Amino acid sequence: MIQELQIRILPQQAASERSIIDYVSREKGIDARTVTGVRVLRRSIDARQRTIFVNLLVRVYINEVAQDDEYARTEYPDVSGRPAVIVVGAGPGGLFAALRLIELGLRPIVLERGKNVHDRKRDLAQISKTHKVDAESNYCFGEGGAGAYSDGKLYTRSKKRGSIEKILNVFCQHGASTSILCDAHPHIGTDKLPRVIENMRNTILRCGGEVHFQTRMTRLLLEADETHNGQRVVGVEAVSQLPAPDTQRSFCGPVILATGHSARDVYRYLSEAKIQMEAKGIAVGVRLEHPAELIDQIQYHNRNGRGQYLPAAEYSFVTQVDGRGVYSFCMCPGGFVIPAATGPQQIVVNGMSPSNRGTAWSNSGMVVELRPEDLETMGMENGGEDEALKMMRFQEQLERTTWQQGNMRQTAPAQRMADFVNNRLSYDLPKSSYSPGLISSPLHFWLPPFVGKRLQEGFKKFGQMSHGFLTNEAVMIAVETRTSAPVRIVRHLETLQHVEVGGLFPCGEGAGYAGGIVSAGVDGERCAEMCAAYLAV
Ligand SMILES: Cc1cc2nc3c(=O)[nH]c(=O)nc-3n(C[C@H](O)[C@H](O)[C@H](O)COP(=O)(O)OP(=O)(O)OC[C@H]3O[C@@H](n4cnc5c(N)ncnc54)[C@H](O)[C@@H]3O)c2cc1C
Repeated sequence: MIQELQIRILPQQAASERSIIDYVSREKGIDARTVTGVRVLRRSIDARQRTIFVNLLVRVYINEVAQDDEYARTEYPDVSGRPAVIVVGAGPGGLFAALRLIELGLRPIVLERGKNVHDRKRDLAQISKTHKVDAESNYCFGEGGAGAYSDGKLYTRSKKRGSIEKILNVFCQHGASTSILCDAHPHIGTDKLPRVIENMRNTILRCGGEVHFQTRMTRLLLEADETHNGQRVVGVEAVSQLPAPDTQRSFCGPVILATGHSARDVYRYLSEAKIQMEAKGIAVGVRLEHPAELIDQIQYHNRNGRGQYLPAAEYSFVTQVDGRGVYSFCMCPGGFVIPAATGPQQIVVNGMSPSNRGTAWSNSGMVVELRPEDLETMGMENGGEDEALKMMRFQEQLERTTWQQGNMRQTAPAQRMADFVNNRLSYDLPKSSYSPGLISSPLHFWLPPFVGKRLQEGFKKFGQMSHGFLTNEAVMIAVETRTSAPVRIVRHLETLQHVEVGGLFPCGEGAGYAGGIVSAGVDGERCAEMCAAYLAV
């Protein structure tokens, strides 16, 4: 017999299969000797009260062989010789598009400007050591995209449960822990993600697809077509560093364009080619880093912190200040703050954590919502350039200012949290996980007031909501600008093709249709499906 039970137990009781069996036999009247196994189907932590509980949905096998159906497998057929589809970008959007194309019997040709996920690591280390950012290989560019050396948090606000489960199952099939299928807040960890991404690439290659690293798309190949508002894409031109530097290449087929939110050269090219885009709202602010122990104490209401059985604590804050949202974003318990710039003369920060979430710090983006119309309020001129790129230009300007404030290195300007709220320069800074180093700077003075003033008010409110959160033990690290794409590449609602260019499928975060690993993966799959429908016409 199999029984599914919803139980609410203490963290130490949830820590092992044995203690869960002991609990269900004691509390639910099941003879422990008949239980052959339990499988946790859902797990969440309830930390609202002083006593912390773990909510579990468990499947109990009674006098029955426990099933090994841990995840749903997808079959990937051999697609050698099948019609080709060009996938530009090997982030989660592009990789999931490529895998779905294979399922549908099409042959993906993946072009990725950066290096493979392994070689990319060396370039990341160089950022902290030499303060030089390789414009083709960094925390945003390279195999796995911005998702590779990220946190690997896999939750999303999207409500399409079926699609989300598919993405999580595909991750499991490629080596992620099956715990992501049951955790309310699933997380792979930056130490585990590269292997999973490598396995996904190997599936693509084994099935007859192609993956070209260090190959940057430079332009679309377009031709006139009456049926698609006048033109359609028939392929791309690219410049490849392999096997020889600066080799010009072209690839033929419809195009899934999954180039992420940091490919500013792609946006500029699309603008010049008059391919319709529009400016999109973003959120801008800082990374806020606390000692992890302090966040554990606050969130678990216990001065001894999280103890042996609880994970590093998470938090989430949101409020409104003067008509704009101020909120925490991409919280990384037990993580690092990292330099996420994609070129010289920029400072951009982001966060990630390893699978054990075991560092001494917990960080999150603390950001203020910014709409395209807000730039006028801030007195920013458009300078006659393409209106669609105005939010991107704002990001660029702020990232450059931050680099100047950071002594023109990757040393990030920073300020203690309470000092910032009180308009005081910090005379020293706490120890931080940000490895290129911090420099004390009056963020209250030079952040755009539209952002700075709202952050100050937001922090005061968060301090009232959570006693101890507003503290000088926390440090703000500037600047967090790449929370989402500053542009939307406008596509047709149903066919997902660009509104004016047939056969072009703007995909994932860079196109403005996803925000995070899972939603980019879901969008990649949808674009692949629509591309299959396009080729069937
Ligand atoms: C440090 C960090 C931590 C993050 N943590 C999380 C997290 O925990 N959970 C979460 O859900 N999200 C997280 N994110 C966001 C997440 O990574 C992105 O939302 C997601 O990767 C978007 O997927 P994408 O495929 O649309 O674009 P991207 O991942 O940005 O991939 C785009 C790819 O296209 C390539 N490319 C760009 N231009 C070209 C070109 N011209 N030719 C060829 N290739 C090109 C790039 O090199 C890149 O590999 C994090 C991001 C960062 C930077």
